[in-house]
Amino acid sequence: MSTERSNDTPQQHTAPGAGNAPKRLDVVVVGGGFGGMYAIYKFREMGLRIQGFEAGGDLGGVWYWNRYPGARVDLPSIDYSYSFSPEIEQEWTWSEQFAAQPELLAYIDFVAKRLSLREHFQFNTRVTSAAWDEARQLWTVITDRGDAYEASYCIMATGPLSIPKDPEIPGIERYTGRLLRAGKWPHEPVSFAGLRVGVIGTGSTGIQIVQEIGPQAGELFVFQRTPSFTMPMRNETLEPDYVAEVKRHYAGIREAARNSAVGGVRPQSTRAFFSVTPNQRRRLLDDAWKNGGLAMLGTFTDLMVNAEANEHVAEFVRGKIGEVVNDPDTAEKLKPRGYPIFARRPCLDSSYYETYNRPNVHLVDCFSDPILEFTEKGIRTQSGEVELDMIILATGYDGLTGALLAFDVIGRQGRKLNEKWQDGPRSYLGLMMEGFPNLFMTTGPNGPAALANIIRISENDVDWIAAAITHMDNNGLSTIEPTRKAEDGWMDLVFRICQRSLILKAKSWWVGANVKDKPQGLTLFTGGFQKYQEHCAAAAQNGYPAFVFDRAKEAVAA
Ligand code: NAP
Repeated sequence: MSTERSNDTPQQHTAPGAGNAPKRLDVVVVGGGFGGMYAIYKFREMGLRIQGFEAGGDLGGVWYWNRYPGARVDLPSIDYSYSFSPEIEQEWTWSEQFAAQPELLAYIDFVAKRLSLREHFQFNTRVTSAAWDEARQLWTVITDRGDAYEASYCIMATGPLSIPKDPEIPGIERYTGRLLRAGKWPHEPVSFAGLRVGVIGTGSTGIQIVQEIGPQAGELFVFQRTPSFTMPMRNETLEPDYVAEVKRHYAGIREAARNSAVGGVRPQSTRAFFSVTPNQRRRLLDDAWKNGGLAMLGTFTDLMVNAEANEHVAEFVRGKIGEVVNDPDTAEKLKPRGYPIFARRPCLDSSYYETYNRPNVHLVDCFSDPILEFTEKGIRTQSGEVELDMIILATGYDGLTGALLAFDVIGRQGRKLNEKWQDGPRSYLGLMMEGFPNLFMTTGPNGPAALANIIRISENDVDWIAAAITHMDNNGLSTIEPTRKAEDGWMDLVFRICQRSLILKAKSWWVGANVKDKPQGLTLFTGGFQKYQEHCAAAAQNGYPAFVFDRAKEAVAA
């Protein structure tokens, strides 16, 4: 590990400038989240000429943008951290079991300084196109500053949740109050005191916002279309003794995470729901509810494939909602029905349901009373206008594919990525695509992204890419590209193994249902993180049999 320290702060670094000759690099990395940061570090340590681009003003990806009140990771911080550096593991100390966004940004800042990463990124810069130059075997990358770069390899570390999505409700431009988007939250503090605030959206983001600002706002109106299942987070301050113990055992903790389905340490059951008595089931669910976090998901082996078992657990959670929420009508509206629990992203909260017991918090059920339009003063639903000083959009993302389809990615023979993906994303391992040589993705849309720890996936993917580049260097190879057969085989596997999953029974961003005209279907690998790693490792064995390579036609390095 590089041991140098620097006082780096986000800044603009020298760029060629419009009209200048393209800058020649080995690797371009698009995105400065966890994946892009590790990629830059890894390739720099390999001695490659690197450049990172980040649309935000600093590193951090979703954690840079999502500064909304109450933003907090819902995987344990110990798991949601880099494992590649024992030094960073020892030097950094988490204060809470589930870190809040400011602590996550502080961690990102710590890593960036410790590894001197910022100097390799150009911030406030969007890549507007990346095109493969067949003759010269390199990628030409253009930014919104009009600068051009040429690189042998292009790494898309663009993340699964980078393109926030406004709701499809007419009249947004008409609204004269303050409109805030969770995914582009202002850097300065926002006061809710005395204001009539509306929140649209009750996914993970909306739930965190509602419980945080409910006690602060004058009146809070929550516009809920589909209720989410949310379970107690039971966040805790981490005691120094516990942190010391974790630091002594990091190697084992990481090993266990790598060998798990979710890329994190969480109790996993070996029993099927109906293999134990109703009393035992109830006790196990009660314990999981008391333990908090995603313990509920680990209570039984068959919750994602056995609809009847799943419904029992869903009903258990509905019962808990009824116990917490005082008003029976509100409680009923908050109870999710019509889709299996865990088939949409499960949420964690600390006081979400309790918030509805406050007299200033009002639930607007958009199923029985749909939103018709934004007005000058607020939101009009079928039953009338709600005047609002502030509206917060927590309406989600064009997930998994949005970021890569937001600019031109052009492969062999001028073929565009949006043509290749017109019926949904296709790739081999979520890492590479036929027709797009030397282009790699981290946490790509056909891997386990969204279903497992994104940092574990990023590390796996970057390590895999680094090994592939090393293999090519060692063998005088200039291009790598998966065969069509390999890509078809992977996609068949992805589709086949998800057929039994109850995830297909719900509409959510996981299946593209939240974006108009987006191809629908689950394209994520549901076989678990451990299996995903095994597939990646197997693909790199015996000379990468699922790939075609070209030998260097000429010395392309400048
Ligand atoms: P989301 O889960 O997609 O939720 C978007 C919400 O907006 C849904 O409730 C949706 O309702 C609603 N919505 C959209 N258009 C609407 C309309 N026209 N009228 C009424 N409601 C509308 O998005 P998210 O909450 O931002 O979460 C996205 C992902 O980010 C999560 O699944 C998770 O992976 C990640 N995340 C993680 C954390 C964490 O680690 N703690 C926190 C936040 C987010 P419908 O469902 O009916 O469409």
